Amino acid sequence: MNSNLQNLIELEKADREIARLSDEIAALPKRVAAIEEKLADDKAAVEHAKSAIKSNETGRRKLESDIQFAQQKIIKYREQSSSVKTNEEYRALMHEVEFAEREISGAEDKILELMIALEAEEKALKTAETQMKAETIEVEKEKTGARTRTAEDEKLLAELGEKRRQLRSAVGDSALSHYDRVMRQRKSAIAEARGQKCMACFVMLRPQTWQDIRTNEHIISCSSCGRILYYDPANEPPPEPPKKKSKAQAAQAESETEPAAEAAPAQH
Ligand SMILES: [Zn+2]
Repeated sequence: MNSNLQNLIELEKADREIARLSDEIAALPKRVAAIEEKLADDKAAVEHAKSAIKSNETGRRKLESDIQFAQQKIIKYREQSSSVKTNEEYRALMHEVEFAEREISGAEDKILELMIALEAEEKALKTAETQMKAETIEVEKEKTGARTRTAEDEKLLAELGEKRRQLRSAVGDSALSHYDRVMRQRKSAIAEARGQKCMACFVMLRPQTWQDIRTNEHIISCSSCGRILYYDPANEPPPEPPKKKSKAQAAQAESETEPAAEAAPAQH
């Protein structure tokens, strides 16, 4: 194979791998950010559960102090009731007592509701904390993985960069500038020619061009897409098997040979 062609094929492989690795390296920080965002959601869930518990406690304390206050009022009303002069005054005080008792009863109901809610809130906190713990471990693992991967990619990239420099210095100037131009425009600069076609743009090649490409001894570019073409004999379809005879032809051939076969013993 023409050495320029061989080197350009290798160069394109290196360039493609360099592009892939560069994309991968660029994508890794985004992946880590996405993982960390998930962790932030878990942290928010824990904070939310904690603040629900806190407001539950504040609510209960407020109700408890309401109850105390109402109980003190009841004591005060009862004390006052022993010194009232009229029935009306007495009834009015008893009415206040009843009202305070209803307040106490209502507050006690609410406290019970909050206690029930607290159980669910504590359960939610536990779940959120477990989830966050698991996620933190996962995130650390993924981050370590990402860092290792990046380091490996960067090492490979450096090696490929060196290989690329060597290959480029080995290719003639005009072939190289053609390669660079097509690479810039089409993101690939080399294509296989198979079955007299460019396998990148599928345009049919002229018979003479096809013959020349098959030698792999020239730098020939596709007249349609500009990619440099090479030929791989391993990918050439096998030659078509000879056509089978039709049934009629086969029968004809058989009937022609039969008498000869029968005639053979008669010759003795
Ligand atoms: Zn083409």
